[in-house]
Formats: sequence, C-alpha cells, structure tokens
Amino acid sequence: IKKIGVLTSGGDAPGMNAAVRAVVRAGLAEGMEVYGIYDGYYGMYHDHIEKLNRQNVSDIINKGGTVLGSARFPEFKEPSVREEAIKNLKKHGIEAIVVVGGDGSYMGAMKLSEMGFPCIGLPGTIDNDISGTDYTIGFMTALDTVVDAIDRLRDTSSSHNRISIVEIMGRHCGDLTLWASIAGGSEYIIVPEVDFDEEELLRQVAEGEAKGKKHAIIAITEHVADVNAMAKRIEEQTGRETRATILGHIQRGGAPNAWDRVQASRMGGYAVELLLKGESARCVGIQKGQLVHHDIIDCLTNMRRAFRQDLYDLSNRLF
Ligand code: ADP
Repeated sequence: IKKIGVLTSGGDAPGMNAAVRAVVRAGLAEGMEVYGIYDGYYGMYHDHIEKLNRQNVSDIINKGGTVLGSARFPEFKEPSVREEAIKNLKKHGIEAIVVVGGDGSYMGAMKLSEMGFPCIGLPGTIDNDISGTDYTIGFMTALDTVVDAIDRLRDTSSSHNRISIVEIMGRHCGDLTLWASIAGGSEYIIVPEVDFDEEELLRQVAEGEAKGKKHAIIAITEHVADVNAMAKRIEEQTGRETRATILGHIQRGGAPNAWDRVQASRMGGYAVELLLKGESARCVGIQKGQLVHHDIIDCLTNMRRAFRQDLYDLSNRLF
C-alpha cells in the first residue's frame, strides 16, 4: 500500500489533530504518500483532497478541534454518493483511508469497506461512547474541562448556599458525567444507564441539607431531563435557590491534554501498521492499556460498552 488518506468526521474532539499528525507522520515514515481529506465525508464527495507533507501537520499536536475540518453529511448514506466519493479517492491513487470520528463516522467507514474500499476507524469523540475501546480521543480533555467547570460552580454555589445542576455532554453515555462527578466531588449523579427517580433525588437533596451541606451539585447527562424545569421543581420543594448550567460546546474545545495526545498518537501510528498488514474494516481502541483492533461491523452491532457500575457505586459511597 503506497497512498493513504485521513479524515476527521462527526463531532470534533480535542486530540483529533494528534491522531491526524500521527497517521501522516507514521505513513511518511513507511514511505507512503498521505492525503488529507477535508471536512469529512463531505470533502471526500466534493474532492477536497490534498497531499500532505511533514510540515502540514507541524504545530497541530497542541491544538483543539481538527485542522482537517469536520462535517455532518447525511447524504453519505446514499450508495451513489459513496461511489462518487470512492472515485475521487481513486483519482488521487488513494488505496485506503483512516477515519477519525464517532459511531456515525464508523458507519460511513463500514459502508466504504463493504464497497471494497479499505478503511480503519479511530475513536474520536468526547462522549466515550464507542465500543471496543476504554477511551475515545477527546474524552480525557473534555473531562478536565467539565471538572474545571464543576470546581467553579462549587465556589459560587457554596458562597450562595445554592443547589447547582450541571448538564454534561455524552449523548447516551454517562461516562463523562460519571468521571466528572467523582473528580469534581458532585453530590448526585444522573446518567442514562441508571433509572432516574426525581422524587428520590429530592429526598436525597433534603437529606444532604439536613446533614448541613452548604451546597449541592447535581451532575446530569444531556437528554435525560429538562434541567431548567428540574431546577424549578427542586427550588419549589426545597426552598433553596437552584440553578441549572448547561455546559454545551465549551466541552468540545480547548487544547488536548497529554493523555489524549499520547493515545491519539498511539492509535494513529497503529492504524498505519494495520493498513500495512492489509487490514480493512477494523477499528482501533485501547483496552487495559494495550492497542487493540476489532471488526468495525462487530463494534457497531454486537459489542456493548460496559457501564462502569464500580465507579457509579463508588460515587454513591463518597457523596
Ligand atoms: P459521529 O461520527 O460523531 O457519530 P455523525 O453521527 O454525525 O457523527 O456521523 C458523521 C458522518 O458520518 C455523517 O454526517 C455522515 O456523513 C456519516 N454517516 C453517518 N451514518 C452513516 C451511515 N449509516 N452510512 C453512511 N455514512 C454515515
């Protein structure tokens, strides 16, 4: 294999640049030509493809977002659109690609592989919601960002004797909420993996108050409840000022932390090794500290991410 491409797709995540850099540099080190495909599958279809050299990925390891750009391009579900995209790749002589993104991007990669175009997926999302890996690229940086936000909310909440609800990203995965709750010492955790009973929450908040807690921080994953409405109900029931903060897109931004840079670099280098071995339709992960790869179809359809019940139980013991 002599020519490969790399793209980032779906929601951006800090560390995607480190992954791109690793793919480019590892590829060049093997004597390959490496092409950047801009704006994900959209750019693949519109032929936004350029050959990259070492310098093109200089000074990006420390940058958030993705220098290749990312896009949502639902049209890629159309076989005719993918055929056109593959034609573009072939026009440049590209024989295989590395896709950095979430499970939607993996779907695209799987479909391309099924059409005979070799693809390797790297898990790039702050949500940590991809099977076959313990960590996704961006998760640890987003975690730092969320913990920093919780620390700040704690300062102001305790000064005002206030209850704070923090809405945290994760789509349908509670990992970011769970880890941030432990690191931020929040009192209550609401994640999609565990049934949520608002009555029970109110009872616990009242109990905490009786114990003399100056403030309460409730960490909740997005899409579980309307946090502003919940804040109103808590305020009515407890008589304590209650505010909801939706952290939103700030969680996606910022310079990647060292962990994400290292893991993204490892996974990027590994993707190139796999392509050299002739692998296709594989997705890369890190499990128990080791680089692993799995069948991408398996990852999308059969493998389930294990919920960290141990962390959830721990958080309940520490509150
Ligand atoms: P993420 O990769 O972060 O999960 P999306 O779900 O938006 O983000 O997926 C990113 C892109 O992957 C989509 O905009 C689309 O171009 C492509 N994609 C998603 N699902 C499919 C699918 N079923 N078939 C082909 N391409 C898909």
